[in-house]
Amino acid sequence: MKKHNYSAGPCILPQEVFEKSAQAILNFDGIDLSLLEISHRSKEFVAVMEEARALVLELLGLEGKGYQALFLHGGASLEFLMVPYNLMAANGKAAYLDTGTWASGAIKEAKHFGETIIVASSKPENYNHIPKNYTIPADANYFHCTSNNTIFGTQMKSFPQTNIPVVCDMSSDIFSRSLDFSKFDLIYAGAQKNMGPAGTTLVVVKEEILGKTNRYIPSMLDYQQHIDKESMYNTPPVFPIYASLLTLQWLKKLGGIPAIEKINEAKANLLYTEIDRNPLFSGTAAKEDRSNMNATFVLNNESHTETFDKLWKAAGISGLTGHRSVGGYRASMYNALPLESVQVLVDVMKDLENKI
Ligand code: PMP
Repeated sequence: MKKHNYSAGPCILPQEVFEKSAQAILNFDGIDLSLLEISHRSKEFVAVMEEARALVLELLGLEGKGYQALFLHGGASLEFLMVPYNLMAANGKAAYLDTGTWASGAIKEAKHFGETIIVASSKPENYNHIPKNYTIPADANYFHCTSNNTIFGTQMKSFPQTNIPVVCDMSSDIFSRSLDFSKFDLIYAGAQKNMGPAGTTLVVVKEEILGKTNRYIPSMLDYQQHIDKESMYNTPPVFPIYASLLTLQWLKKLGGIPAIEKINEAKANLLYTEIDRNPLFSGTAAKEDRSNMNATFVLNNESHTETFDKLWKAAGISGLTGHRSVGGYRASMYNALPLESVQVLVDVMKDLENKI
């Protein structure tokens, strides 16, 4: 029987995506060739790329609004660098919200390009909440934030109003909840949570914000070049893009983001209710900022660790160990994780209470 997969990423994907992508490796689209042995310029793969790019904009409600979707290489980590390269003017400045390890990774790269202002940081409290009531300088080239902090289990529930372009790292909650995505000028996400396997990075960019920096941008790092070449400036990572398309098709069939959002809320409510009820556990993130994707929690008494770990492993749960910088446990409840898996975890938590 398949495990209840709580991995933080790469992570669970819909079973039908595994089955269809396995089939495409053997015989893609009935053409008697593997997806892995055909040209990325073949009509079959060009159709995959076009559908995937269009479906991203459709699911996010951004069709016809001046946005382009790109499937690039390099992970979200390369976007930490591409964003300032493409958006921070020579002698310009940018504003960043520091909400965790990945946000600070983005800040580290931006600092090489110009003045990088940290508008607020929750670092002194080990990133257990999302800072609020900060001021964004009106003369910055853009504001950068991280919608969901995968390691610390916090999630931005609202986004600041500003007149400057807003850039958001949505690696760990893209396609999981309804937002007005047109409030963002650039969204990026490594595929390996809600979109597909590792190996491609989604970038959704409003084209009008590009071309304003007055600096030379190396071709591979230049969003405009990727747009002009329809996301095929060089050989794209064909397999992760195909598997991402299958995941996006699965999401559309399910009813799109509003449908998955309801399921995600049900999963998160079920687990957080138990974390708050069960005297053996405590959540580590501030309640109002709790992530619906990654729930972080600890045992109040560490001496119960061995018993709890045995119980969840015996129940077929995998990937529950917390990130080393937080400790404890992290239950990643991405789109493809069924509600039944969360019920299994909650039952194990209740079981621990009965055993102690
Ligand atoms: N940002 C966030 C929010 C992440 O969760 C991660 C990876 N878990 C990254 C960036 C880095 O992504 P990648 O490994 O694709 O570079």
